[in-house]
Amino acid sequence: SGQCARADAILKEFKDKCGAQNSKLKQVADAMTVEMHAGLASEGGSKLKMLISYVDNLPSGAEEGVYYALDLGGTNFRVLRVQLGGTERGIINREFREVSIPPNLMVGTSQELFDYIAAELAKFVAQEEDRFHLPFGRKRELGFTFSFPVMQTSINTGTLARWTKGFSIDDAVGKDVVGALSSAMERQGVDMHVSALVNDTVGTLAGGKYANKDVAVAVIMGTGTNAAYVERSQAIPKWHGPQSESGEMVINMEWGNFRSSHLPLTEYDIGLDAESLNPGEQMFEKLTSGMYLGEIVRRVLCRIAEESTLFGDTVPPKLKTPFILRTPDMSAMHHDTSYDLKVVGSKLKDILEISNTSLKARKLVVELCSIVATRGARLAAAGILGILKKMGRDISRDGEPQRTIIAMDGGLYEHYTVYRVCLETTLRELLDAEVSKNVVCEHFNDGSGTGAALLAASHSSYA
Ligand code: ADP
Ligand code: MG
Repeated sequence: SGQCARADAILKEFKDKCGAQNSKLKQVADAMTVEMHAGLASEGGSKLKMLISYVDNLPSGAEEGVYYALDLGGTNFRVLRVQLGGTERGIINREFREVSIPPNLMVGTSQELFDYIAAELAKFVAQEEDRFHLPFGRKRELGFTFSFPVMQTSINTGTLARWTKGFSIDDAVGKDVVGALSSAMERQGVDMHVSALVNDTVGTLAGGKYANKDVAVAVIMGTGTNAAYVERSQAIPKWHGPQSESGEMVINMEWGNFRSSHLPLTEYDIGLDAESLNPGEQMFEKLTSGMYLGEIVRRVLCRIAEESTLFGDTVPPKLKTPFILRTPDMSAMHHDTSYDLKVVGSKLKDILEISNTSLKARKLVVELCSIVATRGARLAAAGILGILKKMGRDISRDGEPQRTIIAMDGGLYEHYTVYRVCLETTLRELLDAEVSKNVVCEHFNDGSGTGAALLAASHSSYA
């Protein structure tokens, strides 16, 4: 019918606007490289903050002892303990406890959030076996993975630049995050020293490098997205600190804030951004990461419901609720292989209260999920190409082929198979055949927690 034709037209127009041909992706990659240079040249020189991590030595493998890590950066936070056995034995033991963050704490006060975290840490430590107890007089040491933009002033101090990913706690902005955590630990009676403050990307890079020497880049695709890589300190004009022995420095790119005129933005993305907690910021993140993909789908469906009768004569009320369609549900629909798209039907019914959807409507929903996921995954691949270009690892050189492993983590990458496959396929397409043989994405599950513990070990005050 004419009404369905309108639905098809909306979808078609959206698809065209989302289009990211390889030539376009190469422009995005080049823009990423340019912004990386600008962000390294001067503070505030680019939308990419290119933050100095103060990690100038990644784990050597010789780290030994019991260390803790705390990972805060999205919907869940995690406390873990890692027992390191040095070069011979590696990771002897690893235990963690994962707790979801009550949504009200994400928009409350700094003290409430950090007290909640410290209390969980207290419980974790209280439950541990005697064999993990440290020698008398030695404090437990912790690596704090904090996945928000932080201007670090040393390996274990730094001020929060701003929140992302749905967090909004005004009184924490501009304050030292380690200070906030340490006071909370004191209030909760946790006797621990924060030895390292690391972004999750930096933690993943450290954890990845510990497992495999060829790891040189880390990318997180979870609630949000970000990347870190190993830079030559000579190539960081804004760094005026001492040159490290390694001649290297890990850079936390904060690439979620990347923006370029080459990004395929649609009216739906502009609407999502305008109504978000951080308008104008994190545009790359809003196109690629788990917090937003489902919401983009919802926005397009809402328009279709307004202008066609594909979902009935009136707009289903639930469809008007922002963020009601979560990316895991989008992913479940996208992966539905049943002939009558059963999963799509039941998700539409359970989440959006649209019952008795036609097969045509279900097919349209799958196609929509595919458009949104494909654009996100392809842009993420372009971002990685930008990093490889900056590192000079996008071309083959004479002599020994150089292997590059990209340590990947995050719930989106881990669980959204179609997304992951598209990202990896696109990256291979963008690189020339010779090089792409030596560039691999590898999943490092919770590399960031382990990495933070490793960095706590290498920056121990007892070392
Ligand atoms: P965080 O990024 O919050 O630290 P994770 O790396 O575990 O934590 O990522 C969680 C995010 O991953 C969720 O917010 C969601 O967007 C995405 N995600 C989780 N499970 C799935 C899934 N099955 N399919 C698609 N995306 C998922
Ligand atoms: Mg995380």
